[in-house]
Amino acid sequence: MLLIPDYRVRQRDLLLEIIRAMTSRLDLAEVLRLVLKASVTMVGGEGPGLVALRNADTGAYRIHATLNIDGDRIPRLESQLQELVTGIQQGLDYHDLEGTLQRMTAEIDPRMRQLFPMPLVIADEPVGILIVFRDYPAAITVDDRQILRSFADHAAIAVHNARLYENIDRERQRLNAFVAHSADGVMILDAERQVLQLNPALAGMTGWSEAESLGRQEEEVLVWSTVSPGNLHELMDGGWPGPSQVGSNPLSVEGDILRRYGQELSIAITYVPLHGEGGQLANIFANVRDITHFRRAQELQNTFVSGVSHELKTPVALIKGYAGTLRREDADWGMAELREGLEVIEDEADRLAGLIDNLLEASRLQAQKMQLDLGPVDLVGLATRVVKRFQMQGTGHDFRLAFPEAFPVIVADEARLRRVMDNLLGNAVKYAPEGGQIEVGGQAAVDAVTLFVRDEGIGIGPEDQEQIFTRFYRVNDALGQRTQGTGLGLYLARAIVEAHGGTIGVDSRPGKGATFHFTLPREARVTTDATQEP
Ligand code: ADP
Repeated sequence: MLLIPDYRVRQRDLLLEIIRAMTSRLDLAEVLRLVLKASVTMVGGEGPGLVALRNADTGAYRIHATLNIDGDRIPRLESQLQELVTGIQQGLDYHDLEGTLQRMTAEIDPRMRQLFPMPLVIADEPVGILIVFRDYPAAITVDDRQILRSFADHAAIAVHNARLYENIDRERQRLNAFVAHSADGVMILDAERQVLQLNPALAGMTGWSEAESLGRQEEEVLVWSTVSPGNLHELMDGGWPGPSQVGSNPLSVEGDILRRYGQELSIAITYVPLHGEGGQLANIFANVRDITHFRRAQELQNTFVSGVSHELKTPVALIKGYAGTLRREDADWGMAELREGLEVIEDEADRLAGLIDNLLEASRLQAQKMQLDLGPVDLVGLATRVVKRFQMQGTGHDFRLAFPEAFPVIVADEARLRRVMDNLLGNAVKYAPEGGQIEVGGQAAVDAVTLFVRDEGIGIGPEDQEQIFTRFYRVNDALGQRTQGTGLGLYLARAIVEAHGGTIGVDSRPGKGATFHFTLPREARVTTDATQEP
């Protein structure tokens, strides 16, 4: 036997060195190099050696560590290796594989006379192969083969560990990317509700950056002004999450938080408990959603529903009241009373019809783009008729028309424009409860006309001027609350004007009246749009 003299001591030292390398978290390449060196030393020399690892998905072998092998030879060696390993897996012995082995040896160094292939196996799964060569043939003892086997086993364990670590690392990166880029707020807490992680979306909602929030209690970062059914602290004192399986028993809470710099935000949170191996609570995962828009939309919808029912009930009650009075058999009404009563009935029926038209138009708009019915429109005539109708209602306002002579006739949808005028004049009357002047006029340019409706009423603050054109929006002031409305009038006015290719806006200051103006092209065009119905 031509092994080194004190080789048993040497064997033990080599093994210890490998184990130490594995436990001191050296990277995989380092451990493989060490195993290779130890194995080469074990078989007695300075011969070449290699470790190839198997790709778990493709089954292909790639060389990961070499000793005394020329780098150029690697690609060819890899394909020979594939043959060798397939042969070993098919149960062929060295005798059968001699051809392949000889070709490999010749590739590495023709002087080599003997080689020792050691498959790396974990739980019956091949993970790679270790091969060492020497330049003289000699028998190898059972002991030495066992030591070599144990080096290979250690290499296999190191590969396995590295792959586990890689998987965990990949999972962690995936989770981090998911948390960092999630549009929802995400927070991970420990069992004592201390913040371990908080993503940028949640930092935006709370005003606490991740760095500032780490290690703080959840209740410092999320300060509730109202919350239902309760905050996490109270609910945990009440027994949540209780003994349960991993990820089960989620908890949903909803309410308003005070952001760090003052404003409030409506949010909904789902807390998910994560349990440790012993069943004890380890972490709490919180998913936070900003529901401010949703809440606002809900509020608007509620106001709308109560506004609509109110607006529908009032004219119906008046019509019913007057009709009932007029048809009383014990009364003998004079012509004047009769006419007055019928006028009220007519006005209220008009109001009802106008409201129903607005509702229908608004709901149609939800489903499809507005389609215009174009024709020549005499805007001055239209404005005069609408104003006259309002005048007859005896609202106590002083109506004026202010159009230049020879105002152009435009191409537009007359019924729609009447609705715009109706809605704007109706508002001018409603939001100037003290009376005053209401002026309707226009100017003409080369290819557009501008109309305006000016009142001397309560006016609109700058913060509401854009919003009043959105669906259901109503200014939340004392008069607004007393005045009936649905928040649809200006929304429709804008939709109609824009469908004509025009724009609408308002100039106003609180307490100083409001001037609504809209510009229309002289010739609106029917847009052809695939989504339009015929
Ligand atoms: P509605 O009048 O049914 O509430 P609108 O869409 O017509 O709905 O108007 C939206 C809101 O804009 C109104 O609730 C009111 O607060 C405000 N507004 C509209 N017109 C005027 C106006 N001429 N003066 C003051 N405020 C107005």
